[in-house]
Amino acid sequence: MLQQTQVARVVPAYARFLKRFPTLGALARASLGDVLREWSGLGYNRRARDLQRIARLSSKGLPRDVAGLDALPGVGRYTASAVACFAHGDATPFADINIRRVLGRAVLGRSATEREAVELDRHMGSLREPVRWHHALMDIGATICVARRPRCEGCPLSSVCAYTGADDVVRRRQLRFATSDRRVRGAIVRALGESRHGVTLRALRRAVIDTRVPRLVRALAAEGLVEVSERGVRLPTR
Ligand code: SF4
Repeated sequence: MLQQTQVARVVPAYARFLKRFPTLGALARASLGDVLREWSGLGYNRRARDLQRIARLSSKGLPRDVAGLDALPGVGRYTASAVACFAHGDATPFADINIRRVLGRAVLGRSATEREAVELDRHMGSLREPVRWHHALMDIGATICVARRPRCEGCPLSSVCAYTGADDVVRRRQLRFATSDRRVRGAIVRALGESRHGVTLRALRRAVIDTRVPRLVRALAAEGLVEVSERGVRLPTR
């Protein structure tokens, strides 16, 4: 839930979600439509779909090691490593956007790529107390070494940091396009969540008011996030 979604949004949704689906079994038995309804407001609905796929595949429990976790639907190396570290204390290197920024600026003088940051992480201390190490890096990245105007004067790394203040490059244009499609996809799923029986494409276009609705409905259907029939569009009932 926290991947690319703000903590303030996640906290209440997380509690609600766990109350509704307290076990893997409960999540596996629900319809995908109900899971998506419960996911409402978090965005990136593929994560909800993948979470449920994982629950349906893992009725006896989740894999314990990075390779097993990495093989689950929608789970990549980063998530697998982070779960192995935070859930089991495994000394496994990984880097989210905050870790990339902190380690990269401190050592390279700029934000690191994921590959660079994982290598730095591997060599710099993820072996000793990996949980505290990664929590510390993430917290510094979220509160001190922020993207704009890092607060270097209060940073524990300031005496060794290589960052000179040169701005990291952000591809704003690309981000804007991605965000825009995502917003409409979210609006479609939300609109469908209000109806158990689905709505016609025409009604959906009226509700969402965006010319991309037909294209994005096709994309959502291809991903299994909505069902399309002659009668209209609805969230999956199974
Ligand atoms: S000293 Fe500044 S740039 Fe370096 S890690 Fe700390 S906050 Fe980031």
